[in-house]
Amino acid sequence: MDNEITHSNRVSPSSSRTAWFTEAGSPHHRLQWQVARTLFVGDSPYQHIEVLETEQFGVALVLDGILQTTAADEYIYHEMLALVPLLSHPHPARVLIIGGGDGGLAREVLRVPGVEHVVMVEIDRAVVDVARQFLPGHTSALNDPRLTIRYEDGVQYVTALDAAEAFDVILVDATDPEGDGPGQVLYTTEFHRAIRAALLPEGLYAQQSGTPIYNPDVLTRVARDVDQEFPACRVYWCTVPTYPGSLFTFTVGSLGPEPLIPIRRLPDEAPTRWYTPRIHAAAFALPPVVAELLPDRVIAAQA
Ligand code: SAM
Repeated sequence: MDNEITHSNRVSPSSSRTAWFTEAGSPHHRLQWQVARTLFVGDSPYQHIEVLETEQFGVALVLDGILQTTAADEYIYHEMLALVPLLSHPHPARVLIIGGGDGGLAREVLRVPGVEHVVMVEIDRAVVDVARQFLPGHTSALNDPRLTIRYEDGVQYVTALDAAEAFDVILVDATDPEGDGPGQVLYTTEFHRAIRAALLPEGLYAQQSGTPIYNPDVLTRVARDVDQEFPACRVYWCTVPTYPGSLFTFTVGSLGPEPLIPIRRLPDEAPTRWYTPRIHAAAFALPPVVAELLPDRVIAAQA
């Protein structure tokens, strides 16, 4: 496997009940999770990978020291990143996921009626392998026959895409742009331009745009880029307890559909734990402290 984990010291589960995982929300603020057991530690060619069993939030995936997802609250983020765009699109047959190696986003995408073909472009195969082993709730849909997983860089994939392979909806579920991880390239103007070219007419694009409490500049930059590249840009939010500041945003670029209100619904037998049509609409109601970070067009459209 060209993406072998080069250093894997599968640690014996630590018995210490006083171990803590610490993440710096900023240089001046830290978050801590009490760790019952360390389940995995390893280095892929792209990032340092840890899987921790935390007392409060269950199993957690950590990449380069940044908590990515936990078994306890992942449904909030994945339902909101998948269902808001997909239930705003009239026929989301072809969906592209960039990143999403833990599998949670693919699980939510694949349960939406009308989804026929999903490509997940994840740069680090090791993340998918670790998720399959330790995060079974996230990876339950990774064997769906409609899903193709490609292990490559999302920017290169989108840039090289042939127009005949364009998508109805593109979702970016990548690591943050801070630091020197592989996710940096996914927050550039060039990338957003390539995304637009990879969408079919009436296409929708959504990505996580971080927490405005700690990284207002990321949201400002993403919203500005998407607003410049797309006829319409919208920003919505939710709360993810395990993310620094909890308040977390998503930015949508639209070539046609208006994402503010859902035009479709999940079948009644597909229960959600966070998303509802009313939560969908409410998520676009922006507190002034968030709206002030956004381009005037976005503020006006969501006023
Ligand atoms: N929900 C998390 C968040 O909001 O931070 C993201 C979780 S998911 C594990 C992030 C994934 O993005 C990782 O598996 C990482 O390998 C992948 N990734 C980062 N840069 C990438 C790139 N350039 N192309 C494809 N995948 C990338």
